[in-house]
Amino acid sequence: MSRRILIIEDEPHIVMGLRDALEFEGFGVLSASLGRDGIALAQAESPDAIILDLMLPDMNGYAICEAIRAVSGTVPIIMLTARSQETDKIRGLDAGADDYVTKPFSVNELIARIRAIFRRSVRAPPMGVDPQLIQIGDARINLGAHTVQRNGAEEQLSFYEVELLKLLSQRVGQAVGRDEILQKIWGLGASPSNRTVDNFIVKLRRKIEKSSDRPSHILTVYGFGYKLVP
Ligand code: CA
Repeated sequence: MSRRILIIEDEPHIVMGLRDALEFEGFGVLSASLGRDGIALAQAESPDAIILDLMLPDMNGYAICEAIRAVSGTVPIIMLTARSQETDKIRGLDAGADDYVTKPFSVNELIARIRAIFRRSVRAPPMGVDPQLIQIGDARINLGAHTVQRNGAEEQLSFYEVELLKLLSQRVGQAVGRDEILQKIWGLGASPSNRTVDNFIVKLRRKIEKSSDRPSHILTVYGFGYKLVP
């Protein structure tokens, strides 16, 4: 059965362009032009990924993202933002988006990101075969269930947070370059202005470290990348 992508966007020409391109790639496409319809579709249809516009007539994208996260902790969400300010992107990531694309965007790049998401989720072993538990400090992480337990509380990890942890935990104690992370996880070429990896590291530290400002497990290797010291 083909993977289904839900597009939540009110600009018809963008929906049309994305629908054509995604269907050409063999994906099924659902779409909604209002936030509340998008949330209802996300809940009723369980799409495999969601493309969410930040600016919609009835609700803002952050609120939609949070509402979808409340019912589906793990579906990959890519946010479309018309603005290029870094704060919008970080706010979107905080609301639970996995990635963002700034308008005007290249449909091909967006599709490349979606394909990369699905390539990786196919590679992951089925749940139950390998519980995929890792311990980092006092945080106990289940990579299969996308959860982190700490101090008696459980939090969800997003798709990209899990992918980052998988990559870093395969190379414990070794520095992993930012460019390599960007390429392997997001399927993107290196760009000095791309802060995607850093933004996700910030989010992971908040969930795993005792003090996210003074991390003792997910360490920065200045001018290069990151290193995991469990
Ligand atoms: Ca819009």
